[in-house]
Amino acid sequence: MTQRQFTLCAVVLLFGVWGLLPEFTVTKLNYIGLYALVAVGLVMLTGVAGMTSFGQAAFVGLGAYATAWFCTVPAASALLGLAPDSTALPWIGLVLGFFLSATVAWILGSVTLRLSGHYLPLGTIAWGLSLYFLFGNLEFLGGHTGMGGVPPLTLGSLTLRSVRELGLLTWSVLLLILWALHNLLDSREGRAIRALKTGRVMAESMGVDTARYRIKVFVLAALLASLSGWLYAHLQRFVNPTPFNLNIGIEYLFMAVVGGAGHLWGALLGAALITLMKQYLQDVLPSLLGTSGNFEGIVFGLLMLLVLQRFSDGLWPSLARLANRYLRVAPAASAKALRALSQRTLPDKGTVVLSARDVSKRFGGLLANNKVNLDVRAGEIHALIGPNGAGKSTFFNLISGVDDPTSGTVHLLGRDMKTQSSRVFAGAGLCRTFQHVRLLGPRSVLDNVALGAHLRAHSGWLAAMLRLDRGEEAALMQEAQRQIERCGLGPQANDTAASLALGQQRIVEIARALAGQPSVLLLDEPAAGLPHQEKVALAQLLTQLRSEGMAILVVEHDMEFVMNIADRITVLEFGQVIAHGTAAQVQVDPKVVAAYLGGVDGD
Ligand code: ADP
Ligand code: MG
Repeated sequence: MTQRQFTLCAVVLLFGVWGLLPEFTVTKLNYIGLYALVAVGLVMLTGVAGMTSFGQAAFVGLGAYATAWFCTVPAASALLGLAPDSTALPWIGLVLGFFLSATVAWILGSVTLRLSGHYLPLGTIAWGLSLYFLFGNLEFLGGHTGMGGVPPLTLGSLTLRSVRELGLLTWSVLLLILWALHNLLDSREGRAIRALKTGRVMAESMGVDTARYRIKVFVLAALLASLSGWLYAHLQRFVNPTPFNLNIGIEYLFMAVVGGAGHLWGALLGAALITLMKQYLQDVLPSLLGTSGNFEGIVFGLLMLLVLQRFSDGLWPSLARLANRYLRVAPAASAKALRALSQRTLPDKGTVVLSARDVSKRFGGLLANNKVNLDVRAGEIHALIGPNGAGKSTFFNLISGVDDPTSGTVHLLGRDMKTQSSRVFAGAGLCRTFQHVRLLGPRSVLDNVALGAHLRAHSGWLAAMLRLDRGEEAALMQEAQRQIERCGLGPQANDTAASLALGQQRIVEIARALAGQPSVLLLDEPAAGLPHQEKVALAQLLTQLRSEGMAILVVEHDMEFVMNIADRITVLEFGQVIAHGTAAQVQVDPKVVAAYLGGVDGD
């Protein structure tokens, strides 16, 4: 049996027996579904994209209050010319909730998502608290007493009055969302979202607009929370501020983290576990301890600590390992028609592709680059060498948009790139590797390399969710596979990046850069850590790329490697160019000899 078949059977079984389940079970299941909707948004936000939020309960509240207000205040429906008992009201309430949540999330996100480190979670606590107090203090929302008289939902001629009826809707919606998000994560856009977690530098260098993606994930999580709030309001038919306070926000986060921070199904597992555990503790503890004090909170907290200590990645990965023993993963269906990726025409050989003029960079008192001039031409391998700390990596960052020069100019294909971000450099055809490897360790080599072709495909979130991007995705995978094989890593294509030796991880970075079809390729110490045989293969690959017309700038310590392949060499010392020319010229330059004899490089 495959995992997909198993999931389908479970879903059919759930809906098949829904009508027969006892009322108590249905109620529990419905709550689990409502919580899971919020938790799955948090899995996307926290587990996948790496942003922690304690404030999701506030968005649940926005969804609930928006519909409660719209459905119960006659003046609100009158605004749209609707009767106070119109069955359309809850649906407009849903749209209103979505609108409010998305707007608030967008505004809050624009402010808080810039914060890094501990400030983002602290920011989410602040807005969670403020929205909660706002609900309680606004007279027209019923203050702390809340608002009653929320009508039931109607679907066509069906009125969803009971938990059993509404629960069916909750679970249908939840399963649909799990399906759509699963599709999203298994796409170009999903790779970009995952890349957010490793920090912005790498993702931006692949052409991912990290600020935009962060906001989008944040708004998505808010919309899911708001949807949960809407369903909740029409189930309870009453809203008050209590279920939307900070405690509940923390509980949602627990659900996502305990279930399995980076796994969508983990949200469901976490929601089920925490809901059932809380219920169980509430039932059992009073008789066990002989008092009715609020001890379940304490025991619950301790249990959470234990779970997190024992399963730092949440429970889902352990469960998935168990499932993998009995269930096969069905091979991905291959797309019928590949959609062509965008192609770049390389400039003619000899053209100056990248040019740096008087580029300087100052870090406080240290002048890491001092008026560096350098041209890289199409069809040429240019090496940048120099002792450790000479400023080579700094220079790479300046000419790839990762950092801005203090002074001087950088031109890429004739275009002034002053203060442009690395994303713009990537779009203009500059792809790079990093001295300190930046890969998504738990993802496959194939997935990592496909991220490099991000800008060559265009399908958006909705297309990915609905699987309309399959032709393009297959083309991306094919391109990634091609580059991996070209770099000699074919046998490792499906291994996780983290399982490779460091030298091989550098090669994965090269394949990823090549997937972007660069006009100019920047390689920061690509041969470090490679065995001799693989260095020879790498030299062959670079010579091959040169003959195809690529411009290559390489920083490397292995002199034999450099002298063999470089057409031109620039030598840096203390941030300054001390020599420039062919291998033969540079090798006999007295300044270079002095620099290297003065401090032979350890790497
Ligand atoms: P290389 O790559 O040639 O070994 P780097 O460019 O990494 O050298 O570093 C050049 C100098 O600049 C070093 O002295 C380093 O300590 C300093 N440096 C690099 N990055 C920063 C930074 N972000 N802040 C302050 N100093 C830096
Ligand atoms: Mg360096």
